[in-house]
Amino acid sequence: MDFISLQKIILKLLNYFLVFFILFVVYRKNILNVIFSSRFIAYSSLEVFKKIFMLFFVGYVFTPYFNDLLNFSILENFYANSHYVFVVLISLLLIDFFQYVLHFIQHNVPVLWRLHRLHHFDKTVDGLTNFLSHPIEGVIGFILLSFFIAIIGIPIEGLFVYTILTAIHEPYGHSDIRFTEKFEKVFNKIFITPQFHRVHHHLDMKRGNSNFGGLFPFWDMLFGTAVFPNKNKIFTNPTLGISVDQKPDYSILSFLINPFKKS
Ligand SMILES: [Zn+2]
Repeated sequence: MDFISLQKIILKLLNYFLVFFILFVVYRKNILNVIFSSRFIAYSSLEVFKKIFMLFFVGYVFTPYFNDLLNFSILENFYANSHYVFVVLISLLLIDFFQYVLHFIQHNVPVLWRLHRLHHFDKTVDGLTNFLSHPIEGVIGFILLSFFIAIIGIPIEGLFVYTILTAIHEPYGHSDIRFTEKFEKVFNKIFITPQFHRVHHHLDMKRGNSNFGGLFPFWDMLFGTAVFPNKNKIFTNPTLGISVDQKPDYSILSFLINPFKKS
């Protein structure tokens, strides 16, 4: 196993640890009630399926060909002549901008929305919501991000720091952690807070079609897609999910065929 694969595994374990830490330590959910629930069994099965699917895809289908595809990068010289800290900061902003654009497109291009909407089916948004996404969406995102990183020439250090922050931010961002309104008002202009991201999971897509950012809210603020929770009086308990009459269907098969259903 190479060093990069080992880093990825450690970060994924950190990600899982935080999901369970927030659920069982911060929110004191009953461990047995959670792990024997149909929601947990279905979501974790989907997560395992996705990991196997991705390992096969990355190892046998994508990487062997991708490595020979591109041998140039736009910012290679710029990165080579810049300070280490600056390189990491610019890389973070560029990858985050890419994720913002991709997420915006996923909500606005019908075929991509079909792949992405599974993630919005959760009516109880918490750390486990991280597991709820379609494998094909994951593969498309991985291919596009790989091309973006290669074309721009984002160095491994920048990608590594972004992956660490994402591993921490995903479970935190989907939790229901609440800061005081005063703190929230300032902090959600710097980093995306759970309440800011919760607006994105709002049942009403007029609200849900907002807050597409991953780590930073800057892109939403810049392009007019930011909806701040306190300003819009939905700071507490917004209605989440995808439709009022949706029924919980916790089976891996229904998750996998979800993009091919009408609604
Ligand atoms: Zn979304």
